[in-house]
Amino acid sequence: MKKLTLNCNVCSQSFNYPLTQPEHRHQDLEIGGVPINFWQAVYQLSVADLIVDNGVEGILRFRHMLPLEGAEIVSQGEGNTPLRKLDILSTGADILLKDESLNPTGSFKDRGMPFLIAEAKLLNKKKAAIPSTGNAGISFVTYANLANIEPVVFLPQDTPQAKIDMMKNNATLVFDRDLIQSYEHFFSFCRQAPDTYNGFPATNTAYIQGLKTAAYEIYMQLNCHSPDWVIIPCGSGGNIVSYFQGFQDLQRMGLIDKQPRFVPVQIEGADPITYGFEHQIRDRVPVLSNPVFSRAEAIASDTCFNYFKIQDILRATNGLAISVTDEQIDQDRSFDGLEFSSRSIFPALAKIQNLIKQGETVVLIGTAKNRKEIIV
Ligand SMILES: [Zn+2]
Repeated sequence: MKKLTLNCNVCSQSFNYPLTQPEHRHQDLEIGGVPINFWQAVYQLSVADLIVDNGVEGILRFRHMLPLEGAEIVSQGEGNTPLRKLDILSTGADILLKDESLNPTGSFKDRGMPFLIAEAKLLNKKKAAIPSTGNAGISFVTYANLANIEPVVFLPQDTPQAKIDMMKNNATLVFDRDLIQSYEHFFSFCRQAPDTYNGFPATNTAYIQGLKTAAYEIYMQLNCHSPDWVIIPCGSGGNIVSYFQGFQDLQRMGLIDKQPRFVPVQIEGADPITYGFEHQIRDRVPVLSNPVFSRAEAIASDTCFNYFKIQDILRATNGLAISVTDEQIDQDRSFDGLEFSSRSIFPALAKIQNLIKQGETVVLIGTAKNRKEIIV
């Protein structure tokens, strides 16, 4: 795309993207110094840009639908992941798995990181940082290394060792007590180190725009149709925001007439999205006081920095938020190739199966691969 403008939903100011000025903040809307996502990306769309055949497969096929058009993108063939038919529900609905575990570093994060790193390059940063529970860190370190940018990753101390092993030789790793501590530490670090690129993925425009390519692929894989449902594991929620953005682009271009119903999945007791949805909390971001411990670290949290956007998505698409337990994930054997957090989609599907009608299409987002095989 030729131009992207960022509107701040809080103060209605507009900014040219990428932002080159010091951080735009609304401190009364921060949680422990961590901003919620108040950015709205505004851009023109053209069907010709979507369907152009540039001889490239994967995310770069959609280059003209994405920002930073002139920038060099470090790519390893991300995207173009299969939509597998699963025979796991006997309701007469089509159940399909978008298998994002087949991306180069094993997760959907690879669709966004090339653009996040391209933005850091464009801003002449030699060093870049993000917080992560593991998968984002693995992807970020990989692309930063390829682009000769020095990566710093803030991680909770209970990050699985298999994931740490994939980063430790190629990045500076900083460990904190839990993810929220990592977030707070990360923001305080970035504010004291303006030469370091702040790549906070939950709200990063380049990253979220890159992720939305999965929605375009699903539309094309369904012969130019939108699914009826999208069930998607959610932590900080950048993924659901980006899928919505992708389908919204298709709707704005007149290619689909409705959005799928979105179903974000979290862990019961560490589920601010479900908690806020069920209690109809619209004026504040819930912060749960004692979130349960879960092995699904990517989708268990006390708060959510895309909270307002996700509640808007649920209202706009007649969606619903679902929580599952570690035990329910353990009991499911639908697709072992996905990591534990990702497999939350299967018990979530079971919980809403009575709402799914015959002939409907349900897309489950398999976010990341099971990395057990690399533990020696
Ligand atoms: Zn503002």
